[in-house]
Amino acid sequence: MQAFDCAIIGAGPAGMSAAITLAKSGACVAVLDQASRAGGQIYRASADSPLPDAHVLGADYTDGATLIAEFERVDITHITQADVWHIGDDGRILFSHFGDTRELHCREMLLCPGAMERPMPIPGWTLPGVMTAGAAQVMLKSDAMVAKGAVFAGSGPLLYLIVAQYLRLGVPVAAMVDTTPRQNYLAAAPLLPRAMRNLPMLKKGLDLLREIRASGVPVYRGATDLQVLGDTRAQGLRFTSASRSHDIAADTVFLHHGVQPNLNMTRAMDLTHRWNADQLCWQVDTDAFGQSSVPHVAVAGDGAGIIGADGARMAGRLAALNILHRLDLLPQEGLDRAAAPDLAALAAMSPFRAFIDRLYRPSDALRLPRDPDTLVCRCEEQTLAQLRTGFEQGARDPNALKMLTRCGMGPCQGRQCGHIVAGLLSDWRNEPPETVGYYRLRSPQRLLTLDELSRFHAIPAPTEATE
Ligand SMILES: Cc1cc2nc3c(=O)[nH]c(=O)nc-3n(C[C@H](O)[C@H](O)[C@H](O)COP(=O)(O)OP(=O)(O)OC[C@H]3O[C@@H](n4cnc5c(N)ncnc54)[C@H](O)[C@@H]3O)c2cc1C
Repeated sequence: MQAFDCAIIGAGPAGMSAAITLAKSGACVAVLDQASRAGGQIYRASADSPLPDAHVLGADYTDGATLIAEFERVDITHITQADVWHIGDDGRILFSHFGDTRELHCREMLLCPGAMERPMPIPGWTLPGVMTAGAAQVMLKSDAMVAKGAVFAGSGPLLYLIVAQYLRLGVPVAAMVDTTPRQNYLAAAPLLPRAMRNLPMLKKGLDLLREIRASGVPVYRGATDLQVLGDTRAQGLRFTSASRSHDIAADTVFLHHGVQPNLNMTRAMDLTHRWNADQLCWQVDTDAFGQSSVPHVAVAGDGAGIIGADGARMAGRLAALNILHRLDLLPQEGLDRAAAPDLAALAAMSPFRAFIDRLYRPSDALRLPRDPDTLVCRCEEQTLAQLRTGFEQGARDPNALKMLTRCGMGPCQGRQCGHIVAGLLSDWRNEPPETVGYYRLRSPQRLLTLDELSRFHAIPAPTEATE
């Protein structure tokens, strides 16, 4: 079957920028994404927002429309609503498309699967009415839906952004419960002078905090001991702030404490991963061009380590340039020249990223559950106590615990519980995460029906592929 020069998975800032760079140099490119329109997380529905005035979401959001328009103009095969569940190291990609199984082949592949929010396994985190702050954003961006009178709890720029967006829209917010540990401010202070070189980013963050403070919404700082109230659904949030216990009544609780790379794709391909001690997560090991441990597989954007949307655009372009070089469409001197501005800009951004990582480093108390009845694996309904029993019975690494308890075997295939299980085992064994490891993942990366597998179609590349 005719192969595409390059298949890109993910049409966020990284995937779109890469596709534009590749297509402009004549490569035959396929882009696959689960979403019905390009944009990824940050620019979701930016080109066709259901909001009467999308500018309330901020310039970072509306600016995405320009990139989407450019992406939609270039000559590529963009397959929307394509859920990729297998990527072979032979260049074969299998995905679900409207209930059918589809296959395509490529010479080079670029994975841009983005990030997912770090789960916050506090007591009650699985009750109906508890969602992530990112989910609040998805509802707002895709369907102009909001939850009035919600409590927002956690820490980090994305949390402050969604609260500010709600306030600009006039949506009442019950409270913002900030869990940033007080000691983080001290720990991050030495990194501030270098971070200040990126003054616009720093100002953007401070403006969000000022906007929230000026709104009169109650803000609680240094919050600990969080617990969602309610038996069958969320009725509020209990926490301690300034040595006092507080109960805030609310039907909806939005939690957030940072994002981590979406690992299932890169893990299922057995690419080499490394532990990022600053961001407290596993990430795929790549070079500056996103080149992974497998020569024809590159990874870019937040899926390769959290760098934000601007960084993702740059990383996507860099990966594309290297792929053009590998396809013999760009000589080494051309690669060096074209890559220099993005390499320099990424290096200049890194002090700011280091500052943010240190300031919003989540506390262990929120990353790892403490209450024995708290669910850790929501799909297989495994509690902390059940996992501890499995550990005491001899399951000392994530795969052994998975075999014994079924944690990580459900529909999400460990996306939610992977880092929690690995963190708990690291804690119990008193050994570093690198020693403990992570789930061994395999295709398919999600549940499939036999009916879907039986309806199989191949998609050949257009004949103008360069090979
Ligand atoms: C929920 C959420 C909301 C966010 N909102 C903001 C924001 O408002 N502002 C901000 O500055 N940053 C935001 N971020 C961070 C921001 O997403 C990233 O910095 C930036 O979008 C990274 O770009 P990317 O191209 O690497 O990935 P993304 O933009 O995340 O794009 C990844 C794409 O891959 C697709 N994908 C993943 N897996 C598959 C698969 N198996 N098959 C097919 N397609 C797949 C997804 O559908 C998605 O479109 C958010 C992050 C999250 C998780």
